[in-house]
Amino acid sequence: MDHPGRRERLAARLPELGVDALVVTRLPNVRYLTGFTGSNGQVVLTPAETAFYTDGRYTEQSRREAPDLRRGTYTSFPEALAEACKELEAKRVAFEAEGVTYRLYQDLSDKLEGIELLPVRDEVERLRWIKEPEEIRLLDEAQALTDETFDRIVAKLTEGMTELEVAIEMELTMRQAGAEGLAFDTIVAFGESAAEPHHHPTDRPLRRGDVVKMDFGAVAGGYHADMTRTVAFGEPSAKAREIYEVVRAAQQAGIDGVRAGVRGRDPDEAARAVIREAGYGEQFSHSLGHGVGLEVHEGPSLRWTSDDVLPVSTVVTVEPGIYVAGVGGVRIEDMVEVTAEGCRVLPRSTKELLVL
Ligand code: ZN
Ligand code: ZN
Repeated sequence: MDHPGRRERLAARLPELGVDALVVTRLPNVRYLTGFTGSNGQVVLTPAETAFYTDGRYTEQSRREAPDLRRGTYTSFPEALAEACKELEAKRVAFEAEGVTYRLYQDLSDKLEGIELLPVRDEVERLRWIKEPEEIRLLDEAQALTDETFDRIVAKLTEGMTELEVAIEMELTMRQAGAEGLAFDTIVAFGESAAEPHHHPTDRPLRRGDVVKMDFGAVAGGYHADMTRTVAFGEPSAKAREIYEVVRAAQQAGIDGVRAGVRGRDPDEAARAVIREAGYGEQFSHSLGHGVGLEVHEGPSLRWTSDDVLPVSTVVTVEPGIYVAGVGGVRIEDMVEVTAEGCRVLPRSTKELLVL
């Protein structure tokens, strides 16, 4: 991972922001800039250098994971930051609006007397949109574990298994296959439960004729996979088949719309138009997709309001769905990488309707 290059690109933003230093407190951003994977750490970046701060639990880990950085261990971060600002003669300091609680802001204001604090948004997140080859490799690795889990669960579904049992089985399979963690709690929804986009698995048993909607993903090297597949357990209703084919066509239209230079709203509209024309516009109640990487939900956004312009080497999900209350629902979700030629779909799992 090119941690120094990332810090250099970020430092180049400081003059444009009109600040002497940037304090990074969001953990995925700290990891992105330093390689530190612990649960508490902050970065103070100036044009001249980057300092890393943590508490006593992570002194050793940070020495190992971020050996090239100046490091400090503190008992109070606001005090450590005040000290650092004095040393660096920083007068204007930017902080991450989404990474500072109101309480921390008050503490910083108290300790950083005479220093101007300025909120900034998405400075590190924007850099993270564009994946390095090593990051793409880890996303592919996470996806491979996710595909393997899909193969295994499809072979194991039997009548009477509950949503919870299927979810637990999938999570166990991902861990046993080598995932370092789960991207999020696995969503498994049978039959009418599939009408909820984010259904919490229950003890509802699997019955013949149910659709089975599964949204899940493994984590590899800190990178998250995110995939949804919907299968039929026994012959599905004509309605379920119809909805499936509309979602599948919409998903393909969305993928066809993903390429460098388009705005996030463009592939959303391409997919949404297919669903709208089939008469299910009201039943597609969420955005088309989102960026994915060190966080399962990050930028750029593929939402109908999104002006985010997709760059080469970003990875986004394409996940249209149709949800009919009382009947059921279908979602199909792939991660896709924006390439110079168009885009590349990461999963290898089939999108043909599997009837088990
Ligand atoms: Zn998902
Ligand atoms: Zn998703």
